[in-house]
Amino acid sequence: MLELEHIVKAFGGFRAVDDCSLSVSEGEILGLIGPNGAGKTTLFNLIAGALAPSAGRIRFLGEDITRLPTEARFHRGLVRTFQIPHEFHRLSTLENLMMVPAGQPGERLLANWFGHERVRRHEEEVRERALATLEFLELTHVADELAGHLSGGQKKLLELGRTMMTDARLVLLDEPAAGVNRTLLRKLEEKIEILNRERGYTFVLIEHDMEMIARLCNRVACMAEGRVLVEGGFATVRNDPQVLEAYLGE
Ligand code: ADP
Repeated sequence: MLELEHIVKAFGGFRAVDDCSLSVSEGEILGLIGPNGAGKTTLFNLIAGALAPSAGRIRFLGEDITRLPTEARFHRGLVRTFQIPHEFHRLSTLENLMMVPAGQPGERLLANWFGHERVRRHEEEVRERALATLEFLELTHVADELAGHLSGGQKKLLELGRTMMTDARLVLLDEPAAGVNRTLLRKLEEKIEILNRERGYTFVLIEHDMEMIARLCNRVACMAEGRVLVEGGFATVRNDPQVLEAYLGE
């Protein structure tokens, strides 16, 4: 589904990503681990299109997307969530979901001014999809709560919900467990699993919580010094001497 071929990203003379090759298969949940500074976040930025590689090629669903802007990748179903949930904190939880599809705010304005029937129907569909998403995430009770008032875990669920408002195929999750309590973490994992199994979402997640990685991921890739050091099943990767050494040097 996604192929990174010999990707390099240099900042000045320093190579944050250094000849990194990695493939992601449709339907898998791949865990990306590695010590701080390994290049994981930079790699996510390259995949999502926030950064352009200095060398190498990125293919998504058979198409070369190396030079495509972020938005074009998004429209092809390549969606990224962020380390720091970036909800609109002064909008309600429901409104946050309704904001996702492109063009919403403008369309809403038009609907108010001209009462355009087609636009109104579209908004109604978006609202229904948002309500169904809230129900799936078990967040219906906070639909009208300001998103800024949600707990860390609820914000992560909302962030996952925002991907469900798009036609996501491959979702990049950046530290989903950070700042999430145990109970909500299990819920988040359960929702990720259902989206994977029943909706066919493919996930790549950067995560430091090894228990979450062990529970969720079919495959793990460990990065160090800008490239993939070892990949395979969680147990194999965790016990690999190169991986242990990379973490010791942290
Ligand atoms: P990780 O996510 O694995 O912790 P990062 O991708 O954030 O690693 O960073 C990899 C390395 O690249 C680090 O040494 C970091 O300081 C460096 N780096 C990241 N972004 C930049 C940048 N914009 N300019 C210079 N160096 C950067």
